Amino acid sequence: MRGRIISKSNKIKIFILISIILLITNVLFADSVKIKRTSFDETEYIFSSQLYDYEWISLNHFLKTFGDEFDIDYDNWIIKSVVKDKKITFYGGSAFYKVDGKLYHLPAPIERVGNGLYIPFAEFVRILKIHFYNKIEYNKEIDTYILSPAEYSLGIIKVNELRNGTMIQIMADKAFRKEYCKIWNTGNWLYFTVLGASIDIDKTKKKYSRGDVREIDAIQTKESVQLSFKFRNNISNYDFDVNEKSNTISINVRKAKALVPNVVENNKDIRSKWLIDTIVLDAGHGGKDPGTSYGRLKEKDIVLDIVLKLGELLEKYLDVKIVYTRKTDKFIPLWKRTQMANASNGKLFVSVHVNAIENSAATFGTETYLLAPRGTKKAIDIAAVENSVIRLEENQGRYKDMLSPQQYILATMAQREFMKESQELAKLVETQYSGRLKQSKSRGLRQASFIVLIGASMPCILTEVGFITNKNERINLARSSYRSKIALSLYYAIKKFKIEQDKKITGSG
Ligand SMILES: [Zn+2]
Repeated sequence: MRGRIISKSNKIKIFILISIILLITNVLFADSVKIKRTSFDETEYIFSSQLYDYEWISLNHFLKTFGDEFDIDYDNWIIKSVVKDKKITFYGGSAFYKVDGKLYHLPAPIERVGNGLYIPFAEFVRILKIHFYNKIEYNKEIDTYILSPAEYSLGIIKVNELRNGTMIQIMADKAFRKEYCKIWNTGNWLYFTVLGASIDIDKTKKKYSRGDVREIDAIQTKESVQLSFKFRNNISNYDFDVNEKSNTISINVRKAKALVPNVVENNKDIRSKWLIDTIVLDAGHGGKDPGTSYGRLKEKDIVLDIVLKLGELLEKYLDVKIVYTRKTDKFIPLWKRTQMANASNGKLFVSVHVNAIENSAATFGTETYLLAPRGTKKAIDIAAVENSVIRLEENQGRYKDMLSPQQYILATMAQREFMKESQELAKLVETQYSGRLKQSKSRGLRQASFIVLIGASMPCILTEVGFITNKNERINLARSSYRSKIALSLYYAIKKFKIEQDKKITGSG
């Protein structure tokens, strides 16, 4: 009985399907969408069709014309193509597509019509935009869609007003070359162009009622983005740098005169963005880098245990988000740790380490470090041990730039904004240690050029919880209960810091 009913309804279904296909294919080849690339003269005609009141476009045809590779499996209706070095796969009859192995979902399945796969035009535009950064705009006069192959997409623009100038940071979606940028000024306007970039104009345009930067304007042309920054006063002393590792452009505008009356006001503005809701915990070393060690006791294991204990406490009692640079015994390059901190929008960065000293078994105690402004050779030497992990990293060249005077000044300029906060936290940490770690002693606050702290745009400290080279301290560090005490000290210090900071922000409203 079941068989007869199904075969009847199947017949009807097949009939309807054939009629639809005939109808569609008829309309289909009469229609096309004109697409022109900004960098090419020819206009391409891509098959399109009106289906269910929408305009649909032929994926086969588009990918054959604009993709670098094209392959279709007619048995399974799978199209594979490569566009801008990304592998993209579409499945006929399915609402899923894949880009570089990752699965994405469409609101409606891709239709199989005739010999091709069709996708709603609006969805097609969205895919181009989100995966390939292409911009596609309709030009009414020539009835053509203009596809601009913007190479880079510029995102958030951060204006940091500093005591001695202004640092403007522009985040890009990928690294690009400095040669693509141009900077110049007239009077109090600073202009900056990036070739081959695109930007969301509406989100970029801004006006400020206070501070040195009063306005940000953006113009998108076919080939570039032009950003204009209006300053309160005329400017003359500026430069810019492109950090290829963090895909960030930093424009540095220095003040002619030293002090500005409304520094306090500006700082308040900046601080209001810093409610402490995300804390980044960095267990030093890991994986092939054991840190300092004594027998089987390794720094990487001690600090990971402390950090995990600390994270648990913070999460449980402070209701903050914790970001760990590592939760396992894994090697993480130094640059990546700060990058992770910045990317996660961290408001506090705490790096935990164990100290060691040669030929001085008697030395013991805790030390908490801030990032030192560039200067004394001594400060750099102190950090040499922790920085020496770089030799284990594959791409060592990246630090050459980081430690070049220019980059360092830029990085510490950003960090200087949080120097006071970092110092407060460091003080609280050392006070807690003194109170709780009876067998240790606080060796106080110090400054050094730890690479792991460079470039973190948030208050950050590096704490050395004791000397593995001291017998008593070593025995203590090997004990879980002692490590809990350290975690508890850090927890109370952070708690106190957070309460004070948040009060400053919300209280001064
Ligand atoms: Zn270390």
